[in-house]
Amino acid sequence: MAEFIYGIDIGGTSIKFGLFTLKGTLLRKWAIDTNLKDSGSHILKEIAQEIKQQPESIDKIHGVGFGVPGPVKEDVVYRAVNLGWDVFDVKKEFLSYFKTSFIVKVHNDANVAALGEQAFGAGKAYPHMVLYTLGTGVGGGVIYDGTIIEGAFGAGGEVGHMFIKDFPIVCGCGNTGCLETLASASAVKNLVSYYIKTTPLESKLRNEDSYSAKHIFDLAKSGDLIALKVVDTVAEALAKASQIISVIVNPNAFVFGGGVSLAGDFLIHKIERRFKEIAFKAVKNDTVFTLAKLGNDAGIYGCYQAVKNHG
Ligand SMILES: [Zn+2]
Repeated sequence: MAEFIYGIDIGGTSIKFGLFTLKGTLLRKWAIDTNLKDSGSHILKEIAQEIKQQPESIDKIHGVGFGVPGPVKEDVVYRAVNLGWDVFDVKKEFLSYFKTSFIVKVHNDANVAALGEQAFGAGKAYPHMVLYTLGTGVGGGVIYDGTIIEGAFGAGGEVGHMFIKDFPIVCGCGNTGCLETLASASAVKNLVSYYIKTTPLESKLRNEDSYSAKHIFDLAKSGDLIALKVVDTVAEALAKASQIISVIVNPNAFVFGGGVSLAGDFLIHKIERRFKEIAFKAVKNDTVFTLAKLGNDAGIYGCYQAVKNHG
């Protein structure tokens, strides 16, 4: 009888495993290094070996959920550059390493993180939820009625690449004006350099060679003018993105995770305040803005939930 579900979040440096009961209790979690040799062709085989080495019998696996860093449509990955994968049927290859069959669900890593937060974390009370992961880049996911919106080409939930405004910083995707260039950890640092050059505002940052996102937020809290302008720019960009999303999918909640979100309520309140100024009236007062709760575990929880949603 099936008893277990694995949630497996594949990243460019490590692969996180979560072993869950059918009801969603996390029994244990661990990680192994990602083997990037030979265009990532050993990755799935090593994951299969890792599962076979566990004390739990293979026959008791109900399903395995994957999060992968690339666009995914119906369990097929369309290029995961960080892993070296081109178009790749993850489900088919993974099952080929086993004699038994079980459910396999594959999703984009940011989308499963969003699903994890919705099912187990900050979005628990909210069936419609949007996650922003404000890290080196800006990732995210849109959950509608407890389900990931994958879209026609697997780009559903790529909130980091929403066009926000003309701005002279090139995004990782090659475009300019993306949310990612205005609200990621790298954006925060770029914005400091930009405002040092283009404004006469006084700031301690003018005398510093390097600055972390955390330092910039700490300075903003103490009233530093350039640091404050940077935080206001980040908040404005996220409020605008949320305003647009709110009239398309009308989520109950926007949830913020990743390094930049460590700025906490200081940032969230600014986003919420600005959102209320520009939002459509039906969504103005009841849309919730809150911090993510699961940190790096959001992915494995979401992988579990993707299997569970399947049956
Ligand atoms: Zn972009």
